[in-house]
Amino acid sequence: MTSSSTGLQQAPAPWRGELLRRRGVALAGALALVGLIALADHLTGYDIRLAILYLLPIALATWQVGGVAGGLVSLTSVLCWMWTFESLHPYTHRFYFYWEGGITATSFLVVVVLLTRLKQALERSDERFVTVLEGLQAAVCAEDSRSGALLYGNRHFREQFGALRPPTLEAGEFHDERARRWYLVQSRPLRWIDGRDAVLRVYSDITEERTARELIARHRDAVHRTARLVALGEFASAVAHELSQPLAAIATYNNTSLRLLQAGRGDAAELAEAMQKCRDQARRAGAIIQRLREVLRQPAPALTAQDLNQVARAAIELAEPEARQAGVALELQLAPALPEVRADRLLIEQVALNLVRNAIEAVQALPPGRRRVTLATAPASGGVQLAVSDLGEGVPAEACERLFDAFVTTKPGGLGLGLSICRSVVEAHGGSIRYEPRQQEGGAPGARFSFVLPGIAA
Ligand code: ADP
Repeated sequence: MTSSSTGLQQAPAPWRGELLRRRGVALAGALALVGLIALADHLTGYDIRLAILYLLPIALATWQVGGVAGGLVSLTSVLCWMWTFESLHPYTHRFYFYWEGGITATSFLVVVVLLTRLKQALERSDERFVTVLEGLQAAVCAEDSRSGALLYGNRHFREQFGALRPPTLEAGEFHDERARRWYLVQSRPLRWIDGRDAVLRVYSDITEERTARELIARHRDAVHRTARLVALGEFASAVAHELSQPLAAIATYNNTSLRLLQAGRGDAAELAEAMQKCRDQARRAGAIIQRLREVLRQPAPALTAQDLNQVARAAIELAEPEARQAGVALELQLAPALPEVRADRLLIEQVALNLVRNAIEAVQALPPGRRRVTLATAPASGGVQLAVSDLGEGVPAEACERLFDAFVTTKPGGLGLGLSICRSVVEAHGGSIRYEPRQQEGGAPGARFSFVLPGIAA
């Protein structure tokens, strides 16, 4: 370590010859000062009061050149002082003269030793500070607040930026195009060693962190895109699922009308009825799409007071053509004087219809005695229940657990969406839906799906 203050300066350390010259000048100046003080002392006779001034050149030589130079100037000062003192104060005994000289020399040397120690301690503390700064992974620099001149740059700063200064930025992130690295800049005001105002800037390399951040953002984007695609796929499947029934009904009524026409036996009233039913189903398909769009835009259903008995009747009527074709008998068991429920008519009708259609599908391949589906309403705790029961084989045990999850199906062409949509709709109404296997009279199995909607307090 060469010097405490220069250790922090960005300016290059002085060349050795220049350093020697500076030291020589300082030593010569100190000796000249000693001569001047001695002369003044000799001429004025102030002796001891002027002797204190010798400390000035001694301190100058010790601080600027070193302990040995300080000792040399101390010795010269003592000799000068003795020369002046002896000529002005003749001693009774030589011993006292040398005794006083010895004490003065010792005092001077103590000052030299103390100053040397103090300088070494300062240098060591500076050295520790610079070692820490140089060892930092971040690039650190200090700038003059007013002129912007660079006062110090640590090793990392010099390696990273070399002669090219990074852009002056109080705080934030900047990209070093040349090195293709990102830095986080932090600044804070600082009082420099010579007292002027400075700014300390720390440039932390955040390239890896930024890359990780970008990766996470890209990953999140991909997840969002996938989620949107899945949602879109679910919507498309839901549309396909909900529209299959009205479209099938339209096809059935059309076929009936065509058959009547081809056979030449359809009277106008019969044909008109089939065409009207066809139109109603087409309207229903349109309403379903419209409702799904509304649900997507605003998930809360449009709730109004509804009679679940009417909903059950409508569901039976809608499922009728399919049931007739499958040879399945539909039965209604409606409880009288039920409280009204708050529900979205179209959505709840779809739920009931889905359950009835599932039941028809479950029994259509069974012997005629078991091709029966019952739709019943009943008061339930806190609301009204609508249940659809059949005499089919029931839900396979392995499907029971995740029955209401999306895409759970045991049918070859099934989508596995019907029950999951039913659950979403019922729960959006504040109700609940459940399945229970049903042991019929005579040991025949069966399925019973039921949902409860909260009633409107009278
Ligand atoms: P999908 O009918 O399109 O497969 P759902 O969500 O309507 O989808 O039904 C899921 C599964 O629940 C069906 O595949 C079937 O295994 C079972 N399931 C539903 N209703 C009944 C029922 N009444 N009887 C027996 N199993 C049923």
